[in-house]
Parts: sequence; C-alpha cells; structure tokens
Amino acid sequence: MKDQRLDDTLSYMQVLNFLSKLANQIIQEKDRLNSMDAVCGDGDFGTSMYIAFSNVRKALEEPRNEIGPLLTSAGYSILSSAGGASGALFGTFFVEAGKHAKGKTEVALSDLAMMFDASMKKIQTRGEAQVGDKTMIDSLEPAVRALQESAKAESTIVSALEKAATAAEAGCESTKNLVAKHGRSRYLGEQTLGHADPGAYVMMLVFRTLAGTQNA
Ligand code: ADP
Ligand code: MG
Repeated sequence: MKDQRLDDTLSYMQVLNFLSKLANQIIQEKDRLNSMDAVCGDGDFGTSMYIAFSNVRKALEEPRNEIGPLLTSAGYSILSSAGGASGALFGTFFVEAGKHAKGKTEVALSDLAMMFDASMKKIQTRGEAQVGDKTMIDSLEPAVRALQESAKAESTIVSALEKAATAAEAGCESTKNLVAKHGRSRYLGEQTLGHADPGAYVMMLVFRTLAGTQNA
C-alpha cells in the first residue's frame, strides 16, 4: 500500500499540461473576467489575465525539465506582464510554488500541499487578505486546507485534487455574499453583493484544471 502512495505523483508533463490548459482557459474567458471585474472592480482583470497567460503560453514552449523552473518561469511571465493587484499576486502564486518544487521531476500530494501553502502565505504577506475579504484567498485557503487534510489522510492525488477543486468552488461561491476589503473592489461596497470575486474565480479555475490533469 505504502509503495503505491510513493508512486502516486504528478509528472513534469502533467504539470506542463495543467499550465497549458489553464492558460488556454483563461485566455478564452477574457471577456467574462472583464465583465466580472466591471461589477466588482474597474473592469481590467480579464485583459490583465489575458496578457499574463498569453506570456505563460509562450514561456511553456521552452523545455525546463524540472517542475520547479517550469512553475517559476510561468510565475515570472505573469509578474512581468500583468498590471493590477492580480498580476503581482498570481505571479507570486506560481513563483512560490516553483521555489518549493526545486529539483523535482514529479511531485507527490505532500509536495503539492506544501507548495500551495507556501504560495498562499506569500500572497498573504504581500496582500494581507484573509478569508472573508472577497479575494482569491477565499478560494485558495479552502483548497490548501483540503490538500493538507488529504495529505495527512494519505489519500490519492486524484481524490485530493478533486476535493481541493470542490473546496475552491465553494470558496468562490461564498464571495457572492461578501463585501470586498482589498483592491479597487473595496470602493464599490455593497454594489458587489451577489457577484463572485473575479480573482477567486480564477483561483478556482487553477484547482479545477489541476484536478483534470490526472486524466491527461
Ligand atoms: P485591481 O484592478 O484592483 O488593481 P485586478 O483587477 O488586477 O486588481 O485584480 C482584482 C483581483 O485581485 C480581485 O478579484 C481579488 O481577487 C484580487 N486581489 C486584490 N487585492 C488583493 C489582496 N490584497 N490579496 C489577495 N487578492 C487580492
Ligand atoms: Mg481591476
């Protein structure tokens, strides 16, 4: 049993596949993300994400061989291209995950839990958002907690990623009932009630897409 768990990993190719699918999806959803940010912010989020993930797609053409540099190069592509709060924070997400996957050609569930926990902590150091502030943290925190619980329970990656994606979806949905405390959205107050936070939506897409990569 234990040996099977040791073999239960995501490979370099699967992580590459995940980033590629995620970039395509975000690029496709540019208008939707702009509309979401028009209600909850200043309407630039889809365009920022479009530019950022077009750069990610270009960066993915260069082989990296290891998961660490693959993720950090995606992160730096976002950091160097996207404006707004979200560019810095999503860039940080991938850079930090990559730093914690240094030297790895495959990652186990415990690695994933540790990598994304590090990403979350760095985003919170930078942005100071907590759960309930109507940001990407509302999707990220429950997803990271779900990964940590699954790692503790020695679950399979497939089941852990599915739980993390479901937790992120619930977190994203919860932002509809929240009033923003960060970013441009905070100036809009109760106007944003009933609408999901666009950053939380993209963070949910990250985990939903990751959950789909096992079958790739
Ligand atoms: P802005 O136009 O406010 O500079 P963007 O439109 O680029 O920012 O991104 C908005 C998204 O960024 C929000 O939907 C939210 O999820 C996220 N965000 C903004 N501020 C923070 C923060 N301090 N911490 C975490 N996420 C944040
Ligand atoms: Mg904006």
